Amino acid sequence: MREIWVTRAAMPGYEEYCAEIRSLWDSHWLTNMGEKHRRLQENLEAFLGVPHVTLFANGHLALENTLAALDLPKGGEVITSPLTFASTTHAIARNGLTPVFCDVRAEDGTLDADQLEALVTEKTVAILPVHVYGNPCDAAAIDRVARRHGLKTVYDAAHAFGVRYLGAPVARYGDASIFSFHATKVFNTVEGGASCCGDAGLVRRMDDLKNFGIRGPEEVACVGGNAKLSEFHAAMGLCNLRHFEAERAGRAGVAKRYARQLSGVPGIRLLTPRAGTEPNYAYFPVLFEGFRLTRDEVSDRLAAAGFGTRKHFFPLTSDFDCYRRLPTADPCRTPVAHRIAEHVLSLPMYGELPPEEVDALCDILLEG
Ligand SMILES: *Cc1c(COP(=O)(O)O)cnc(C)c1O
Repeated sequence: MREIWVTRAAMPGYEEYCAEIRSLWDSHWLTNMGEKHRRLQENLEAFLGVPHVTLFANGHLALENTLAALDLPKGGEVITSPLTFASTTHAIARNGLTPVFCDVRAEDGTLDADQLEALVTEKTVAILPVHVYGNPCDAAAIDRVARRHGLKTVYDAAHAFGVRYLGAPVARYGDASIFSFHATKVFNTVEGGASCCGDAGLVRRMDDLKNFGIRGPEEVACVGGNAKLSEFHAAMGLCNLRHFEAERAGRAGVAKRYARQLSGVPGIRLLTPRAGTEPNYAYFPVLFEGFRLTRDEVSDRLAAAGFGTRKHFFPLTSDFDCYRRLPTADPCRTPVAHRIAEHVLSLPMYGELPPEEVDALCDILLEG
């Protein structure tokens, strides 16, 4: 029986990883910003094209600590998208801030910048857009609103590793951008994440926050926690980064093969990034709207044939029990996001997904 998962974690060769960690048996330096950590940080600054990268134990802690480092006034409102993973909204709430949900664009699922202004109040302190599925947000339009109202912008770029828009890396957007290096993401360190920004002071505060506020043997600067990335995780990142472009190329082939068979089919719509995007093919989200099968029927039928899929992102975070009583969580306020959440299904996507499996999946979808 076939067993294809919705994704499969990218891994370097076993020998390559062993060679990378060999020096740890000499140094006995296993965590606390060692050699692997420093090299991964430098390699990522170069690869992502940003002045500063600071690594974290995971993407969620990168986001939570980035918001904390910005020192936003407690009780402030943060405008964000509900079409995302729980982490985005939780990072706002766990900082004592209030999520304000904004609807998204039907074409690509990113924040609808035209609706931002109407959601700004005297309590608004920041905007937290999500490059959902790796599709870049309209940062220029978001930036205009942020500047006009003096708001901070932090991008949840968890899906957007290596994505460029009009030639520029999306990692440069806003006051900061965060990435997730979780095993299921397009680039992984097993668990891991990073925050990128251009402000050395902000990086300093994040570095404090991720290591208990410790600056020296006898100096503790602030109330920090522990969100450090270990040397073993950093070593995995050093290896996987060498193969990222091969992974991206493999995924591009898979995406093309799906698109050739599925685009133009009545009732099937592909969620694609805006023209000018250099994508990373992190996901392959498909909308089943008016197709002869509902999204849930498609998911069940594919599961019966051994294909894993994901309803990315159903339910919307604004429909979670912990948020649905917020004023902007009323489903009437985010009709486009709800429509996507009801109809979207992410199909299996990873660099080494065999072409014949892509074809078999499409045949199951398209058969009478
Ligand atoms: C994966 C993800 C995160 C959190 O990253 P972790 O590394 O799993 O903590 C945050 N936001 C989005 C949109 C994600 O998909």
